[in-house]
Amino acid sequence: MSKTKATKGKIAVQAENIFPIIKKFLYSEHEIFLRELVSNAVDATSKLKTLAMKGTFDEELGDLTIDIVLDKENKTLTISDKGIGMTEEEVEKYLNQVAFSSAEEFIEKYKDDANIIGHFGLGFYSAFMVSDEVEVLTKSYQKGAPAVKWTCDGNPEYTIEPIEKDARGTDVVLHISEDSVEFLEKDRIEGLLKKYCRYLPVPIRFGTKTVTEEVEKDGKKETVSEEVDNIINNPNPLWKRNPKDLTDEDYIRFYEEMYPFTEKPLFWIHLNIDYPFNLTGILYFPKLSNAMEYRKNKIHLYSNQVFVTDEVGQIVPEYLTLLHGVIDSPDIPLNVSRSYLQSDSNVRKISSYISRKVIEKLKEIFKNDREKFESKWDEIGIFIKYGMLSDDKFYEKALDFVLFKNVEEKFFTLEEYKEKIKANQLDKEEKYVFIYTNNPENHNPLIQAAQSKGYDVLWLGDVIDPHFIQMLEQKLSDVRFIRIDAESVEHLINKDENLESVLSDKEQEKVKALFEKINDQKGIIELKPLSPDAAPVSIVKPEFFRRMQDMQQLQGGMPGGMGGMDFFNVVINTNHPLIAQKLLKMRKEEKKEDFAKYLVDLAMLSQNMLKGERMTQFVNRSIEFMKG
Ligand code: ADP
Repeated sequence: MSKTKATKGKIAVQAENIFPIIKKFLYSEHEIFLRELVSNAVDATSKLKTLAMKGTFDEELGDLTIDIVLDKENKTLTISDKGIGMTEEEVEKYLNQVAFSSAEEFIEKYKDDANIIGHFGLGFYSAFMVSDEVEVLTKSYQKGAPAVKWTCDGNPEYTIEPIEKDARGTDVVLHISEDSVEFLEKDRIEGLLKKYCRYLPVPIRFGTKTVTEEVEKDGKKETVSEEVDNIINNPNPLWKRNPKDLTDEDYIRFYEEMYPFTEKPLFWIHLNIDYPFNLTGILYFPKLSNAMEYRKNKIHLYSNQVFVTDEVGQIVPEYLTLLHGVIDSPDIPLNVSRSYLQSDSNVRKISSYISRKVIEKLKEIFKNDREKFESKWDEIGIFIKYGMLSDDKFYEKALDFVLFKNVEEKFFTLEEYKEKIKANQLDKEEKYVFIYTNNPENHNPLIQAAQSKGYDVLWLGDVIDPHFIQMLEQKLSDVRFIRIDAESVEHLINKDENLESVLSDKEQEKVKALFEKINDQKGIIELKPLSPDAAPVSIVKPEFFRRMQDMQQLQGGMPGGMGGMDFFNVVINTNHPLIAQKLLKMRKEEKKEDFAKYLVDLAMLSQNMLKGERMTQFVNRSIEFMKG
């Protein structure tokens, strides 16, 4: 029954008036009101489409575009849809009872968790965060239903009155309050629409915009401007479409639209599942130019094409937060707290589904296009190693395709590499010794020496590598990693390669005493009878301490770590002719010391350790040597 006169009512307030609470608690995040109201408009439109499909509604649907209209002069912002609308009874029921009590309940539950409130709206009543008064003008799709206007000024009192309204659907008119004038700014509203509504399934129009085009007229170029509808959204985003209809360019263009000014992604995965949960999305592997540049919070979570958040920590396994892209799932419970999310079985299923898809994709590229896999290894490797470190299941599966690159830039799987070094690099305990460098340039002399003995040298230069190899040693009983500067080349493999020393014990003591005397560094002097053509003096940095240092550095420790200590040993090759003959034969003590110092400096130089004052002295002394 329609009314001819306005009626007044009072929203049943249980505990207290919620309007002050809405304003107070939600103040910092009040922008979400727009997302809530536009989502309602989209819902009302989708419901009408469903009715039309079922035949319940048999009139013309017409243009269903949702309009957002800003009227700065009258300080209003209006959201208009051509959806199902509401009858007077429905306004009573949905706005005064359902919407109100659910808003009340929501605030009761989450008023202490501003974070949740920020991300998850409280529906229609969020309009009061920014408005002094809200009017809802609505006309139901049902034949003959009169249009009504509901008005509420932020007190529990409201009025409903009949109005003239020809068009089906609902206009929500917000009278923006003094402290929310920012929402009367065109740019602000456009920004919010772009943020939350960019991929909503119904076209959303925000006024018009001018487009300029160059056209040829009578052989002359002319620019013509035209006013066209300013449609905010792409109602049919890529992740909702069938991968069969999409090209690589489509995926790249979509990526560039989401992340302007970033490099092209390496590859992507299109997700699509309806059972046991509903999820669509596209995950991109970004190009990381620097290993430390772990950029997180790049995956956007949508629920039925409404942007929800870019903090997907609970939904995507930690190591996959390095990925970019979109996940859209109405099955992720949004109105609940974080701790609940972690224990939700749907969320856990979603998380393992995503990992599985990522592994399948990596495996597929590895199998079908090894060349591509290798060419992108420097970047993909970071994900894979990070994943292996943080997830046991991922580790198991990735062990088949994790690659090792050697200094010749050839790639091997674990098994392939074992096969390669089997003949030459098994130690006394039958362990495979993986010799590696983190910096082939700095270690050039050592690498050449190792290669001349037929050893292969891996290149493990990522910040994550010290952790990665530590883990492999723990999990695999038959491999051992040793950095090329951790031992003299003869001893890298840990086979007894010591020769007999050509020096007597007494001579050795003399040599040791001499080097200890001139040792102004922190290194420990160590005598070894190596081959006569190995370096006379070399610097080694024991694997264990150095690796601890590396790992500390990744965790943000002080550079140099371990309280700034730099552990190294100075290895004197007692079989080298320069030591065994030349040095021992020298008469003058002073000359001996100079000579020993020079040999130590050379060893340091070959490892890039000669710096500052010591470097200057070395250069000056070399010039003196040449003179004489
Ligand atoms: P929710 O959208 O979560 O159900 P809201 O508080 O946003 O909660 O809205 C309450 C109800 O009001 C909706 O369920 C819907 O029935 C009705 N409603 C809100 N906005 C519109 C609209 N634009 N057109 C038709 N009905 C609407």
